Amino acid sequence: MDTAWIAWTTVVLVTAAAAIALAVVAHRRDRCNARVARTDALTGLGNRAALAEHVAALLARGPAPALLLLDLDGFRDVNDTLGHTAGDALLRQVADVLHRTAGDQAEVTRLGGDEFAVLVPGPVDAGQADVLARRLLAGLAMGGFTSGGVPLDVQGSIGFALSGPDGATAEELLQHADVAMYAAKRARVGVLRYDPAHDPHSTGALEVLGQLRQAMEEDQLVLHYQPKVAGGGDGRLLGFEALVRWQHPTRGLLPPAAFLPFVERTRLIHPLTRWVLLTAARQAATWRARGLETTIAVNISAACLDEGLLGVVEEALALTRWPAQQLVLEITETAIVVDPEGARRTVQRLRERGVRVSVDDFGAGATSLVHLRGLAVHELKVDRQFVTELMAHPEDEVIVSSVIALAHRLGLVVVAEGVEDPGTAERLRAMGCDELQGYLFARPLPAAEALGWALGELDRRSGGPVAGPVGDPAGDPAADPA
Ligand code: C2E
Ligand code: CA
Ligand code: CA
Repeated sequence: MDTAWIAWTTVVLVTAAAAIALAVVAHRRDRCNARVARTDALTGLGNRAALAEHVAALLARGPAPALLLLDLDGFRDVNDTLGHTAGDALLRQVADVLHRTAGDQAEVTRLGGDEFAVLVPGPVDAGQADVLARRLLAGLAMGGFTSGGVPLDVQGSIGFALSGPDGATAEELLQHADVAMYAAKRARVGVLRYDPAHDPHSTGALEVLGQLRQAMEEDQLVLHYQPKVAGGGDGRLLGFEALVRWQHPTRGLLPPAAFLPFVERTRLIHPLTRWVLLTAARQAATWRARGLETTIAVNISAACLDEGLLGVVEEALALTRWPAQQLVLEITETAIVVDPEGARRTVQRLRERGVRVSVDDFGAGATSLVHLRGLAVHELKVDRQFVTELMAHPEDEVIVSSVIALAHRLGLVVVAEGVEDPGTAERLRAMGCDELQGYLFARPLPAAEALGWALGELDRRSGGPVAGPVGDPAGDPAADPA
C-alpha cells in the first residue's frame, strides 16, 4: 500500500467519523431543543405545542380522546395581591395536583397563564369526561394550597370536547373546549361540555348573530323593567332595572341567556348596548311625560366598559334630555378585574357626569375587595345566589350581613336582588339592606305594565289618585343608606 493512499483513507475516515459525531450531537441537541420547545418552563408540564402534537397523535391512532380545558377563577387576584412569585408557586402546585388527580393515562399540559389542558386517551364518553372534570375541580378545592403559610382557596372552570361529536381535528377540539370553558365560567357551573349554542363561530350561533343584527333594526329586541324598592321606611319604588329580551319571530320571547353569551364574544355587543341605553332613555322620557320620574339601571357587559361607553351615554342623555342622575349603570366584577385601571377611569368620568355605577352580582366572582378600592361606584348588588335561599342557609345570612356592613362603611348603597319571599325581605330589612329587588315585588315587566305597577303603587301609597313624581330621583341614596 502506498503511503499517499493510506493518508488519504485516514483523512476520509476521520472526516466521516467527525461528521457522524457532529450529526449525533446535532441530533441530540435538536431533540433537546424540541423537548425544551414543548415544555412549559414554569411547571415542567408540556406546553401548547406538546398538546397539539399529542392530540394529533391520539386522533391518528383512535379511539376518540377527550380534551378538557381548565381555567382558574380569580388567579389574577393572587398575582395582584400576593405578587408574581406567589402566583408562579401556586401554578406549580396546581400543576402538581392536576397531574396527580388526572392519573397516568391522561396528559396534563399548561397552555399559558392559568390555563391548563388535560388530554384523555379514548374511548371516553361525556359522563366519564364530566366525572374526571369534577374530580379535578374537587382536587383543586381540597388542594391545600398555600402561599407563605397563607391558605389559598383555588377554584376553576372546565370545558370539555369529545373528539367525534364535538370536533374532528386537534384545532377544532381545542377551540371547542375553549368555548365550553368560557361558557362554564360565565354560567358559574364548574363544568360544561361543548355545545354549539355557546359558540359564536358555530353555524347556529352565526345564524342567530346574523338575525340579531336584523332584530335590532326591526325592533325585535325589547326591554322589560323590574322594580327596585326601598328596604326601609315605606318600601317605595326607587327605580327599575332594564333587562333585555328578544321577541324572536319563530322562537318566541328569548331570555338574555339564549343570546347574550355569544353576543358578548363578538363586537355586536357594542350596538346591542347602545340600543339598550337609547331605548331605556326613550322609555324614561315617555314615563316622565306620564308623571313617573324614576331611575333606570342598564346592564353593561365587561367588553363595553371603556371610553366608547361615555360617548354612548352622552348620546342617550342628550337625545332625550334625560337627567344623568336618573341613569344607573350596572357593571360586573369581571369587568373591573379584566382592566382595573381602565374601569377606574371610566367609572370616575361617569360619576363626574352624574351617572351612578353599581357593582352587579357582588360576591359571585372570585374577585377580591381590592378591586373596589379607588372605584367611584355608588352601589353594590349582592348576588342573588346568596339572597334567594337566605333563610335556608345560615352562612348566606352571614355573607349578606357582612356585605351590607362593609358597603355601608364604604358609603355605598346595598341592593339585594332575587328576593322571592316575605321572610327573606323581612330579614334583609332587619339587616339594613337599602334596596330590594325580586319576584316578591314584581317580575321584569313590559314597559306598559311597569308603568301601571308604578302608578298603582303610588296610588296605594297615597291612598288616592296619582299625585306626582315617584321617589326622589335626584337625591343620592348613598347619603342615606339606612
Ligand atoms: P342580572 O343583571 O343579575 O339580572 C337579574 C336577573 O335575575 C334577571 O334575569 C331577572 O329576571 C332575574 N331575577 C329577578 N328577580 C329574581 C328573583 O326573585 N328570583 C330569581 N331566581 N331571579 C330573579 P334575566 O332577565 O334573565 O337576565 C339575566 C342576565 O342577563 C342579567 O343578570 C344580566 O347579566 C344579563 N342582561 C340582561 N339584560 C341585559 C342587557 O341589556 N345588557 C347586558 N349586557 N346584559 C343584560
Ligand atoms: Ca343587573
Ligand atoms: Ca345581578
